[in-house]
Amino acid sequence: MKIALISYWSCPCLPVGQGKNGGMSIYIRNIAQSLSKRGHTVDIFTPVHDGNDTINTLGKNINVIHISIPSYHHQVRLTAEKYVRRFSRNLISSLTERKDDYNLFYCHYYFSGLVGIELKKEFNKPIFVTFHSLSKLKEEKGSDSHQRFLLEKKVSEKANFIIVSGTDEKENLISFYKTSENKIKIIPPGVNHNLFHKRDQAESRKLLNIKPDNFIFLFVGRLEETKGINLLLDAFDKWQKNKKAKNANLYVIGESVNQKYQSLNQEKIKFIGQVPYSKLPYFYNAADVVVVPSYYESFGFVALEANSSGLPVIASDVGGLPDIIKDGVNGYLFSMDKLYNNHILRKIMGENAIRISSQFSWEKTARKLEEYFYI
Ligand code: UDP
Repeated sequence: MKIALISYWSCPCLPVGQGKNGGMSIYIRNIAQSLSKRGHTVDIFTPVHDGNDTINTLGKNINVIHISIPSYHHQVRLTAEKYVRRFSRNLISSLTERKDDYNLFYCHYYFSGLVGIELKKEFNKPIFVTFHSLSKLKEEKGSDSHQRFLLEKKVSEKANFIIVSGTDEKENLISFYKTSENKIKIIPPGVNHNLFHKRDQAESRKLLNIKPDNFIFLFVGRLEETKGINLLLDAFDKWQKNKKAKNANLYVIGESVNQKYQSLNQEKIKFIGQVPYSKLPYFYNAADVVVVPSYYESFGFVALEANSSGLPVIASDVGGLPDIIKDGVNGYLFSMDKLYNNHILRKIMGENAIRISSQFSWEKTARKLEEYFYI
């Protein structure tokens, strides 16, 4: 199969954990690699960045093709829709020139879904959409507009097929967007077990210069409001003082666009900044517990990466997180106390975490997606 994957929002080649690049880039890289291992060709189309109109490769039969159009963020004078239209026009000419015959368009995030609508009109091929996040659910935090909701609704109406990570996203699409149930398919993402697996904690700590007797709560993610970082800082500070948990530390990984966070650096709370994806395993392995306090999370790769590294996770009970974290089995849906106080429990949950996370694999995701593509 020849798949054209549209990634309008961000280029999957860019580092994750900074700017707007997060789980979606991880998703795109991994699914493209797993589909290529299954014999498919995946061409990823994304806007030019850094003025570099090049074609990169992400592995055998995976090209990342940069289409020359300023991305939405660089010039905010045009509306999002106008940008998408310009990108689509350039993409259509590029596809016509390349004479590539794609079986389908696989669109990530609603912007790419809008591009997909234009491609479908031109080439009459089906569009598969994965939203990754829905504005309706972020609205409570005031971070998204009604305009975005209307565009997402349009995409959900015009898409031939929609792929979601879990039941929560499916139910939300049906109730808020009135999406017809039979075009939604649940396909959970995977995790790279070769990268995220249990390693020796003492060695990881030595490498990172962390004292052996410290207790480390770890947060990993873009430092934005919906990730619940402010809630965690506040909760940790109060909890740590209350419990007199002298050896407890909170490590925060992720780019801080807001300088305010750097000034909060103190003895017990450390802001590490963005960490390259390939170095993250050492931090997971040096930590004792990972906390994912999001107000909204479409899936939550961090929870799965932590579990796969043998760590219990404390997570909020939202979005896709309860699909990964089973309360009392491989973590808790909120409680710092229990895991801090009980090392046997941490060990048991760490083992459960590895067992449960082993059920998620990119190979499995690609297999299910492939079956769906062949419908
Ligand atoms: N990440 C990273 N370096 C960082 C911070 C995050 O590589 O400094 C990665 C993290 O491991 C995860 C992704 O970025 O794979 C974030 O995905 P998640 O689903 O947790 O959140 P999203 O950013 O998609 O909202």
